[in-house]
Amino acid sequence: MIPIKRPVAPPALEKNLTAKSKTLREESADTKKARDTWKNARAVRRDLKELLAGMAAGFVRCMYCGDSLGTDIDHFKPIARDPLSAFIWENHFLACSHCNSNKKRDQYPCDPSGECLLVDPCREDPYDHIRLSLPTGKYLGRTEKGKETIRVFGLSRPDLELGRAHAYIRCESMLRDWSTRIGSGREDVANTVLRALVVQPFADVLYAMIKKSYAPGAANLFEADVLAALKIVRDKVETQNVMNSFRNP
Ligand SMILES: [Zn+2]
Repeated sequence: MIPIKRPVAPPALEKNLTAKSKTLREESADTKKARDTWKNARAVRRDLKELLAGMAAGFVRCMYCGDSLGTDIDHFKPIARDPLSAFIWENHFLACSHCNSNKKRDQYPCDPSGECLLVDPCREDPYDHIRLSLPTGKYLGRTEKGKETIRVFGLSRPDLELGRAHAYIRCESMLRDWSTRIGSGREDVANTVLRALVVQPFADVLYAMIKKSYAPGAANLFEADVLAALKIVRDKVETQNVMNSFRNP
């Protein structure tokens, strides 16, 4: 999981969302009513999906696992929990069917004060809550929220851990390759490598590498050539603000 930048919804979409929410409120919609209204709102769902796809990392990857294609619109706060938030823009995320339907479903854990215990990648940095071991690809909760997020979205699935570990190897290789091309004056080829690097699935791996490159022990964590390249790439990525801005280079 990486931070996702959520834009303001375009006026036409916002107008439709507001109208749908108003209808649900006026009808005091229950879960069934809200679900039916959602299912029938084809045009709104199409526009939402298009907007969410533009926010997702890489080539429309799931905003939770970062691996699979984002195919579903997930209601962060489930309709079963709050039917009236079915059409609230900030409540919509793009998820793969595994994260959405197989894992999260209607789960929405909260602490005793009612505070949600799931990381909202549009509002907070997942890195503050979830630690990633680069060599093993394992996620470890730094906070209660991080632990619950891993549990609810099933982010410790063996295929995801293996995928992240392999992504780490690819990132290291590509950083070395990028550095070699730059060193031999082939900036055009180097840029191709850089573009491929930032649109890979498991964007959380490169994101964690960038975060760790600032840590005091970074020199012990990375080979010197990888760290040197990472620091330069890091500045390029951060100048672009967020990694998903590399989606369509
Ligand atoms: Zn997913």
